[in-house]
Amino acid sequence: MTAPRTPILAGNWKMNHGPSQAARFFADFLPLVQPADDRSVVFFPPAVSFAAAREAVQGRPDVRLGVQNVHWEEGGAFTGELSVAMAADAGAELVLVGHSERRHVFGETVDETVRKVGAVLRGGLVPVLCVGETIEERRADRAEAVVVEQLRPVLASISAEQLPTLVIAYEPVWAIGTGVTATPADAAAMHAAVRRTLAEVYGAQAAEGVPVLYGGSVKPDNAAELMSQPGVDGVLVGGASLDPAGFAAIVAAAG
Ligand code: PEP
Repeated sequence: MTAPRTPILAGNWKMNHGPSQAARFFADFLPLVQPADDRSVVFFPPAVSFAAAREAVQGRPDVRLGVQNVHWEEGGAFTGELSVAMAADAGAELVLVGHSERRHVFGETVDETVRKVGAVLRGGLVPVLCVGETIEERRADRAEAVVVEQLRPVLASISAEQLPTLVIAYEPVWAIGTGVTATPADAAAMHAAVRRTLAEVYGAQAAEGVPVLYGGSVKPDNAAELMSQPGVDGVLVGGASLDPAGFAAIVAAAG
């Protein structure tokens, strides 16, 4: 029997909240959220705010930190980039890979997500692999095919032993930052497609162990319904994670 998946409530701050704002955020947020070991709260602050965030969450093992991006190389002449080892040294436990803004604004390719996931796993951190279709792809009835095309090369590149470390976030591109959310039924259908793909590669039991989060305009008033869908193991939240009270309400929605 596979252990039940623990809900993950993750906030991606993107290019928001510098160090002083990060400290203020946690001063307001932490008293609103009691420590609990039946869920994980994760933040992805900008790299320059990481140290402030780390200091603020000391003594709160229920709150974990990650970085928004890494390079797959271990070091060298890559101006503006971070290595996995540097992120780990700073205290990061997780790394976002293939976020839609990395793919669609910065041109990150599937091959690059494969390299990044490999580097993150080799470095002992948890990759949170983001997958999702554009509105044109959904209208062309290709939503599932696109997500499978983003997932399969990554799954083919990792071992069965590494699979339990992977976290996946289904984030339809058309729902990110738009205020438009996938219907609970659409989210459930896409999460089922992700888990089917995992099962095809690694078998049903191994697939059951991988958390699959939903992301895309999650707010305090829709989080509970989305998280109640079968196969939705938590949420990856952008805009609504910037507000301490709003994100605390999303954490509370996990039950
Ligand atoms: C995200 O950045 O991953 C995201 C889902 O953003 P938002 O919640 O603002 O749509």
